[in-house]
This record gives sequence, structure tokens and C-alpha cells, in this order.
Amino acid sequence: MNKLRKFIIGALLTIALIGIGTKVANKKEEYKQPTKEVSLDNPQEQLDKAYQISKPSNITEIIYDPEFNETDRYIRGKMRNYFPEEDILKAIQNARKVSPGHNMGVQGIFRYMGDGEKRPVFARKELLTSPNVMTIEDIASATDHEDVHAGEERYGLDFYDHRKKGEEFLTLLKSGKIRTEMMLAIGELGAHAYQLNKIQRGERKTSRQLKEHVERWFVYLKGMVETEKAQGILQPVEQEFYEAKRKRYDSVFKKL
Ligand SMILES: [Zn+2]
Repeated sequence: MNKLRKFIIGALLTIALIGIGTKVANKKEEYKQPTKEVSLDNPQEQLDKAYQISKPSNITEIIYDPEFNETDRYIRGKMRNYFPEEDILKAIQNARKVSPGHNMGVQGIFRYMGDGEKRPVFARKELLTSPNVMTIEDIASATDHEDVHAGEERYGLDFYDHRKKGEEFLTLLKSGKIRTEMMLAIGELGAHAYQLNKIQRGERKTSRQLKEHVERWFVYLKGMVETEKAQGILQPVEQEFYEAKRKRYDSVFKKL
């Protein structure tokens, strides 16, 4: 990410935070202030409970992996027969880098995108210590979010009426028709929208903290994509991916 881009994103985030703050204050929604129910005692037990509540379609299990040992093992197992050691080490390092702000994660490997298989999710210590994750239901909501990522890894990127699998994604990437960063941002926007849709419909009763946290990220990501769209920087395939998310989560886009 270059400096200008970082600055633009930073500025957008500030605007988004201010915007949401006012909106929420005006509404004066009645949310119970839950006491922190999630803790570092028996992490795996809490993750299993959240999994049972969320009932994700595309996740095999949530694995507590504070030191990345399980993630490393997973990457190595998947890449071993196809990639040189150098690439495997790079992927292992990247797995640590790409997840700031993500306390749970699905490990994406292009080669496997669209293979039809469910994915494991790896959870970090910060998930349990985060001030935005108060209850088991909050972890279930984060699981809803990861279920979208796992679904896109399983079936390919969701373009509403079709899916784009790993090979097509790589071809588009190499030809410069999509940018990894923007595709990731739009994928995130979709995962946040799905998560919010469940909260807004009352299917997931999260803490106020988590709801506001997810709303802030949604508004921020949407603002980022909309800005590029307005500036004419957004590539046609990226715009198509964005429109697919708008169509699928129409009511969330209308509310925020
Ligand atoms: Zn995500």
C-alpha cells in the first residue's frame, strides 16, 4: 500500500467513525450492556459453543490457534506437493501479516479456491480478549462472517449469478484486470454485510459493542470502494464484484 492510499484510507476511517458515532447516538437504541462473558479460560470450549450456535455451512471446525502452529501445519499440508519451500515459507509469513483486525481467519490458497471443500477456521487469542467480543453469541456472529469467507474459498468468489474460482482469479490478477487489495476489500464488505444482515434481522443477538464494530467496518469499506468508483479507478470486474454484494445484501446497503 503506498503512502497516499494509506492516508486516504485513514481519512475515510475517521469520517466513517464520526458518521457512525452520530447515527448511533441519535437512535438511542436500547441495548443491554453485557458483562464480558468471553474469557481465556477454556478457549476451545467457547469456540465449539459458538460453532454450535452459528451452524455455519462452509466451516468444518474452529481451531484455537494462538501461536499459528495449526495454521502453519495446514498451509504446509496443502502446499507441500505443489510449491517450493520458498513459497511455503512466504505463505506462512503472509498468514501472520494479512490478519490484523481479524481475530479469526480462513486460510486462502488460490490453487484450492472453488474445490467444493469446507474449510477450518483458526482463532487467535485476541478474539477472546477483544473489547468488541463480549459474549459467545458475538463469537457466533464472527463465525457467520468467516462462513462467508469459507464459502468463497469453497465455491469461488460470489459474483451473484456465477462464481470465479482460483484459476480465473489468477488470470484476472496477472492481466491487471483486478487488484488483490481491492478484491479483498470487497470480499470483506460482503462478509460484514452478511454478518450485519443476521444482526439486523434479529437472527443473531450480539452485544452493542460488536454490532457497532461491524457497522463501522462496513461503512468504512463501503466508503473506500465508493470513493474509487467515483474517481473512476475501480476496474470493471471489481465493480461487478461490488454490485454483486450490493444486490445480495440490498437491505444492509440501504440502511448504512
Ligand atoms: Zn473477514
